Parts: sequence; structure tokens; C-alpha cells
Amino acid sequence: MVLDIIINMNAFILDFEKKVKDSIKKYDLIIGNERIAVAISGGKDSTSLLYLLKKFGCNVFALFIDLKIKGNSDENLKRITAFCKKNCIELRIVDLKKEAGHSLLEICRTYQKEHDSTNCAICGAIKRHYLNKFAKKWGADKLATGHNLDDEAENLLLNIFSNNYDLCFGLGPGSVKDDVGLFIPRIKPLYDCLNSETEKYSRLMGFDIYPEICPLRADAFRKDVRHMISKIKNNDFLKRKLVNNFLDILKKMPAKKFLGAVKCFECSEPSRKGLCKACEILKFSKKR
Ligand code: AMP
Ligand code: ZN
Repeated sequence: MVLDIIINMNAFILDFEKKVKDSIKKYDLIIGNERIAVAISGGKDSTSLLYLLKKFGCNVFALFIDLKIKGNSDENLKRITAFCKKNCIELRIVDLKKEAGHSLLEICRTYQKEHDSTNCAICGAIKRHYLNKFAKKWGADKLATGHNLDDEAENLLLNIFSNNYDLCFGLGPGSVKDDVGLFIPRIKPLYDCLNSETEKYSRLMGFDIYPEICPLRADAFRKDVRHMISKIKNNDFLKRKLVNNFLDILKKMPAKKFLGAVKCFECSEPSRKGLCKACEILKFSKKR
């Protein structure tokens, strides 16, 4: 009985690892000895991803954006530091207070005084900005994130429901290099893995994950979409179907991906309109 459980656990671990390796190959995510910055949040997905890329012999370093969220960023950083030390992985940290002069909460509060925007939308823009900037600055060829199949299905539906069709073109397991080198190519090696599978893998591997969810998280719409998907019978099958069907559409429209990206006149990072979203948000904190 106990032996059966151990055999099943080992079989799951091997299957999961093979699935990630197969996705890297299938989608051509990593070529040769490319240097990969792994965006690590301390959560189950990015921790599993970092562990596996290192295990597969990839040329990786971990990149953490310290958003200075009280009682959360420091707990994650403590665990990430120990994890990287144990697994001999270089850890690079971007300190938001040093970069922008404020914590994420301060940035959210000032911006929200004049804009109807959620904490998660602001956080997403700030994280994307610094991940792109510092992954390039620190010599990475690509940036890997821990997005899994559930995230992709949710993002796809969220973009469609909010009439953000353009954002759908940023989805997919890997982005290609843009002509002007503004965006670092992004890869999602957990693309074929369900949320429940990474959760199980991380638990079986005994990774030390901080259990509390982010205290600033307040994305009701995402929660609704997740809830809606979970209520559909056979939803794991549906999520795979949805994402794979979307990939077929994406393959037919590759040229749309980087339409309209220009250098931000403040920071030289990519923007749509001349001023990037992060600079637009940070402008309000600087005014204080
Ligand atoms: P989230 O947007 O929180 O669902 O996170 C999606 C992915 O973004 C994670 O799997 C990580 O790869 C990356 N990420 C999230 N938060 C951070 C952070 N503070 N620093 C670096 N990478 C992050
Ligand atoms: Zn900018």
C-alpha cells in the first residue's frame, strides 16, 4: 500500500518533468545555451519552473521584483534566497523602492486617486516593466515566467470579455524577438501544465512556498472567470481545448504580435503611445 503510493508519486513527478521538457522542445522555447532569466515570485509555479530549468541544465538566473508588499515580499524573498542558495542558482533582485522611490501599495494608492484601476492591473504593469528592463540589462536572452495552462485559459477569456483582442496576441507559449529589441522574448515552459499539476508537483517536491495570498490582490473579474471555468463539467479538458484552439488561430496571425511598439520617451522601454504604462503610473507617485 505505502509502496504503491510512493510509486504513484514518483510516476507523477517523472510525468510532470517530462511534460515540461516536451513543451520546451515542442514550442522551441530554449535554443542551445541561451541565458534565461526566470521571473520568480516565490509561488509554486515559478519555483517549480526555476527548479526544473536548472535540473535540465539550462543557463538560468532567478529574477525577483521586490514590490515591498508588507509581510509578503519579505516572506517570499526569504524563501527564494534559501531556495536559490540550496540549488546553486544566481539570484538577482530589483528593489522597487530604490527604482521608483515607493512601495507597490504607495504607487497604487496615488494612481488610484485619479484613475479607476485595480491593484492587480497596476502591479502587472510595474512587474512587466521591470522584468523586461532588468532581464535585458543583466544579459538574458529570454525571460521565463511560471504561467500555466489555467492562467493562459483565464487570460484568453478575460481579454475577450474585456474587448482587449490585441492583448491576445501576446499570449502563447513563447513570444518572438521584435525587430527593434524592445521586448525580451518571453517563454512559458509550464504552458501545458494544469494549475492542479504544478500545485501537486511543488507539494511532492517539498518546496517551501509562502502560503498566504498577496494582501493587495483584488481582481474580482479574474476570480469570476476562474469560478465560471471551474463550474463547467470536464473543465481540464475544456481548458486544454480552449488554449490549443487559440494556438491554431495565433499561428495564422504572427505578424500582429508587436504592432505599434515604440520606445517610451521617458525610460526607453516599450510603449504603445510614446509613454509606457509604468511611466504613466509612476508619474503620479513622483508628483507627491
Ligand atoms: P502573477 O502575475 O502573479 O500570476 O505571476 C505570473 C508570473 O509572473 C509568475 O509565475 C512569475 O514567473 C512572475 N512573477 C510574479 N510576481 C513576480 C515578482 N514579484 N518577481 C518576479 N517575477 C514575478
Ligand atoms: Zn517608460
